[in-house]
Amino acid sequence: MSKEKDGVMIGLECHVQLNTETKLFCGCRTQAEEPNSACCPVCLGHPGSKPVLNAKALDYALKVAAALHCEINKEFFFSRKTYFYPDMSKNFQITQYEIPIGLEGQVVLSTGKKIRITRVHLEEDPAALVHEAGMAASNFCLVDYNRSGIPLVEIVTEPDLSSPQEARDFLDQLTTILSYLKVYSATTGTLKADCNVSVYGNSRVEVKNVTGKKGVEKALSFEVARQKNLLLNDKKIVRGTRAFDEKTMTTKATRTKETEDDYGYIVESDLTTIHFSKEEIKKMRENLPELHAAKAKRFIKDFSLDEYTANVLANNFTLGNLFEEIAKETEPKMAAKFLTRELMAVVNRSDLDLDSLQLNPEEISSLLRILSSQRITEKVAKEAIIAYLTKGTKPMQFIEKGGLAKDLTEADIEKAVEKVLSENRQAVADLKRGKQKSLNFLVGKVMKLTRAKVEPRIVQDLIYKKIKGG
Ligand code: ADP
Ligand code: MG
Ligand code: ZN
Repeated sequence: MSKEKDGVMIGLECHVQLNTETKLFCGCRTQAEEPNSACCPVCLGHPGSKPVLNAKALDYALKVAAALHCEINKEFFFSRKTYFYPDMSKNFQITQYEIPIGLEGQVVLSTGKKIRITRVHLEEDPAALVHEAGMAASNFCLVDYNRSGIPLVEIVTEPDLSSPQEARDFLDQLTTILSYLKVYSATTGTLKADCNVSVYGNSRVEVKNVTGKKGVEKALSFEVARQKNLLLNDKKIVRGTRAFDEKTMTTKATRTKETEDDYGYIVESDLTTIHFSKEEIKKMRENLPELHAAKAKRFIKDFSLDEYTANVLANNFTLGNLFEEIAKETEPKMAAKFLTRELMAVVNRSDLDLDSLQLNPEEISSLLRILSSQRITEKVAKEAIIAYLTKGTKPMQFIEKGGLAKDLTEADIEKAVEKVLSENRQAVADLKRGKQKSLNFLVGKVMKLTRAKVEPRIVQDLIYKKIKGG
């Protein structure tokens, strides 16, 4: 346990959906639109139905445990966690209790701080309770069993996180690792966390079932402030569980939590104990793919990138791959700069999902090649990448169709400058008196007239030359 009695202590219990095609204990699909369309006796909990472990889900969870540097148990099994709730038709959840897949791992934050992982285990998701909008919500609710039996990997941390921002950083690192392992998809999979918080060594509160990375950061920020405020007012913090409400951005007390004893765990006797030899576990570790920290280091070494740029590239699995492809065909440093600045600016500004865009590295390579051969301006390159990302227009087509390659002769450029100067006499006079803004104004006019086919630097020099001359 952390000795930090003077600060904030946060421990997370993260539930991440593994992106298998079928459920954890039956062959039902994990992606289904129509409610209750992907169910069978097993995931509906019919008496007499028997679970069969999904080998892929097990493989994925083992990869997670290994990538989080956990001790992997040579022998582990499943348990029934018994409780009554409408989302759990068989009155127990199949999970792991006494001996999970992995114990005692760690995740390194972007700051270098190490967060200890208590355990990693595999379990099934309960069904989803649906409170239909518009209906008398307090009177009834619907149950969608499509969710029942979806494979989750639970990752529990020690209370080593000391701020909501660190918790966010932790989840960013974790999801990056999971996407490198190809076991999680941010677009189709869920990420939920129970967030445990205490301040100054007082009682801890658990904010249950918070959805998403942003949600966790917000819920924790509210809860830390609430607890500190109670203490400022000489009030006691009551140990208990709370729920986070996204709409009001507050947490509310909920039913008192069962203790682990209440769940009456028993061994799931319909599933066998799983055994691995030392050699098999060793092999699993050796077969792990390169993860983001290692990839960033390699980018620095192979392409002489600075640390910041290398991290931005490597922290996004898809962006890192895109860069590696493009770096084969272009000047790597220039490509890195273009991707991390121009391309990611468009992605972030338009809130795009890089994974679902499925960009073709060839298209971006061609664009960068003609940019570096100075046949287009930087401004045209930016416009081309915006068109590619937001409309799917291929960059080369965008340039050809728009006639945007620099095909102007020096005489053309001179003519354009002269035209703009003669049409904007006031700005010219202002510039002569040293008003810098007028220069930007005039350059802008020329850029517009030439459809950005000339570099602003050249236009600027020409304007000065003309003004001095005339
Ligand atoms: P429980 O049995 O109540 O679930 P656990 O020991 O399993 O408790 O811990 C659950 C989570 O609570 C873990 O993520 C752990 O790091 C966190 N936790 C434990 N003690 C504290 C504390 N004092 N402050 C904040 N989080 C804590
Ligand atoms: Mg617990
Ligand atoms: Zn099923």
